Amino acid sequence: MYKINDNYLKLPGSYLFSTIAKKVSAYTEANPDKKIIRLGIGDVTLPLAPAVIEAMHSAVDEMADAATFRGYAPDLGYEFLRSTIVKNDYEARGVNIAIDEVFISDGAKSDSGNIGDIFAKENRIAVCDPVYPVYVDTNAMAGRTGEYDKDKECWSQVIYMPCTAENNFVPAIPEETPDLIYICCPNNPTGTAMKKEELQTWVDFALTKGAVIIYDAAYEAYISEEDVPHTIYECEGAKKCAIEMRSFSKNAGFTGTRLGFTVIPKELVCDGVSLNSLWARRHGTKFNGAPYIIQRAGEAVYSEEGKKQTKEQIAYYMNNAKIIRDGLTEAGYTVFGGVNAPYIWLKTPDRMTSWEFFDYLLEERNIVGTPGSGFGPSGEGYFRLTAFGSLENTKDAMERIRK
Ligand SMILES: *Cc1c(COP(=O)(O)O)cnc(C)c1O
Repeated sequence: MYKINDNYLKLPGSYLFSTIAKKVSAYTEANPDKKIIRLGIGDVTLPLAPAVIEAMHSAVDEMADAATFRGYAPDLGYEFLRSTIVKNDYEARGVNIAIDEVFISDGAKSDSGNIGDIFAKENRIAVCDPVYPVYVDTNAMAGRTGEYDKDKECWSQVIYMPCTAENNFVPAIPEETPDLIYICCPNNPTGTAMKKEELQTWVDFALTKGAVIIYDAAYEAYISEEDVPHTIYECEGAKKCAIEMRSFSKNAGFTGTRLGFTVIPKELVCDGVSLNSLWARRHGTKFNGAPYIIQRAGEAVYSEEGKKQTKEQIAYYMNNAKIIRDGLTEAGYTVFGGVNAPYIWLKTPDRMTSWEFFDYLLEERNIVGTPGSGFGPSGEGYFRLTAFGSLENTKDAMERIRK
């Protein structure tokens, strides 16, 4: 008789977005005349940039001709894309990364979920609270998180690092020693970012304790402040302790197109075994390469036109972020984030819980956001709005809030 992986049974239900959807549809059914503005989505809305579309079209044409047709892509990615990434994301920032330290994938969600494959089950993980749920749930599936406590909304074996206004959303070094440390910077959901010296503290800690940092830099393109690092490898010693994940989803609108990459420096060695070679083996065995057409599209993001056009898209979203920040501040709210990331994290007023504020915003202002408590216990009393809506809707939403 076969057995299932019963770690899956320990996972708490993911009620956040289904509860939101239910509440919104119940409200619209009862109030069909009301126009709802959705500022809850974590998905881009602008179409792909013309330079990207052009590259895709010509790659499609290549696929139509026997002379230029491509079958399986190289498991680890086409060299044209890997070298473009090395040059633009690393060399241009004074960071030396080799082409075979870059692994092309179908996105940062898969990579951040799959990376656990190369680590032993016994490793202790540390995550920020609130957190992007993928890091915790995938470790739970692997049996690395102990038991789930429903009341505390915590796993017994996970080290949680609260990130709140009190510590300026920079996690403190935990008392217990973790083996794998997940850091997302700029952060989803709080929209805040660590400064280089703050991240350096984490790199130093990881080096001292023999831990690995799994660094999710999906929002790198939104950084506007000088002292926020664009890659963890700007920190001294990071190549000996950090894996970096990137995505084309938020910087170039590839959420539906799918493309990302992971960097594992060869200096990252555990007991004489290089993590780079383990990941090459894992990726080459379980992944059959990102599509040629999409990798050409990704290459076009780095062309002169592509850079210009995607910068404009990011500026569009970040203008929304500013409108939200300013609008809320004027209305008397305490707001965080929205400067180096497309997320605004606000303190709920009058000691409302995150869900009470959700109901208030939906019913009184017809705006949908995301309750902070849905991302972890330390998110209670906070609320997330995103800058991915249209300019018009964003402005309208702030008008409604000011009233
Ligand atoms: C959106 C997002 C990603 C990107 O995931 P893809 O699979 O590349 O679309 C990764 N990490 C975080 C924290 C995100 O919010």
